[in-house]
Amino acid sequence: MEMSYCKKCVMPTSRPGMLLDNEGVCSACLWHEKKQTIDWNDRKKQFQDIADWAKSVRTSAWNCVLGVSGGKDSLWQAHQLRDVFGLTPLLVMYVSSDVTELGRKNAENIIKCGFDVLTIQPNPKVAVKLAKKSFFEYGNIAKFSELALFSAPFRTAIERNIPLVLFGENPALEAGDTNTEHPGWDASGVRFSNTLSGAATDIWLGNDVEKNDLILYTFPSQEELEKWAGRGVFMGYFLDWSGWKNAVFSLRNGLIPHHASHEELGLHYKHHSLDSDNGAAVNFMMKHVKFGFGETTEHASYDVRAGRLTREEAAALVRRLDGKCSNKFVKNFCRWIDISDHQFNDVVEKFRGPMWYKDNLSQWQLKNPIWNNYKNIDEIDTDKIIKKVDTVTSSKLKDELI
Ligand SMILES: [Zn+2]
Repeated sequence: MEMSYCKKCVMPTSRPGMLLDNEGVCSACLWHEKKQTIDWNDRKKQFQDIADWAKSVRTSAWNCVLGVSGGKDSLWQAHQLRDVFGLTPLLVMYVSSDVTELGRKNAENIIKCGFDVLTIQPNPKVAVKLAKKSFFEYGNIAKFSELALFSAPFRTAIERNIPLVLFGENPALEAGDTNTEHPGWDASGVRFSNTLSGAATDIWLGNDVEKNDLILYTFPSQEELEKWAGRGVFMGYFLDWSGWKNAVFSLRNGLIPHHASHEELGLHYKHHSLDSDNGAAVNFMMKHVKFGFGETTEHASYDVRAGRLTREEAAALVRRLDGKCSNKFVKNFCRWIDISDHQFNDVVEKFRGPMWYKDNLSQWQLKNPIWNNYKNIDEIDTDKIIKKVDTVTSSKLKDELI
């Protein structure tokens, strides 16, 4: 199977749930165009109304719960809620059991910025079992942790009677993941997204994991949500969301970027996935093997849509960085879930997608890589491009600030 690509960005059709329109444009690019026509002042007013409603009905010390990871979006969101919309947020931070020193420092940074933070760290022994199952059966290490990420803020709000739960961007809209049946703002429907697929926990039972071990991974039932009568909302629907601008804001307010190289991370940014670089980089590499694209494709596509990169420049970055992952991260991951390098490689190969073939030197190659569309790709200076767009090194940032 050869991949074909959105004609505007560099996203291939092998992305799950991705659709191209009659003109060959992906839903994420169409959403980006639509965003330009949205009256953001009006949306902001709508969000202020929701904030005012939460303030008026609150019975707890806090009037909203924000799920945070300690990464680039968290600080910007928390700042908006408190300083722009006058809310008193309780930040709920899910801490992965493979959290790095860097992840911990960034979590501390949010607290230092003056927020109440509730940290949730599920039992690490159970987490290892779930990570193992995620890896072996789904080829997606993050599959189990997504459940806790989305469930924990709702559970906290229900338990403490806080009326409003907030998340960042709606993945269905931003990344064109799926044709959601729920309104773009409604986060209560998140359980039906591609990521959570109904949020059933039964698939995680067995292998010494019991129902009680999964409480923090269990999304509230419809009955619990109705009794709570609160709202779950994606902020990205109401505010002109830009992960890149969020990163700039957060870096200027103490966020510490990765020290690893772009090659080690497989990405032209150092502000991404700061909570667990082992798992994240390994997972992006797995995604590349499964679907023929990795995190550079994802972010270079955002850059093309926002006008920071041309499609050709994006293709050059994809050729250089997509799917790369430091051996150090792979080793850390194997140590964490207690498997050998050999076992790791076997599982990775089991998930290899049909868009790959072996060349004369027995190396895996993509059948139809995006950079084949550009004859002069070798002449593109990717170091220069990275310098231009990387939030840590870009000299243009002064003009771009919010
Ligand atoms: Zn596109």
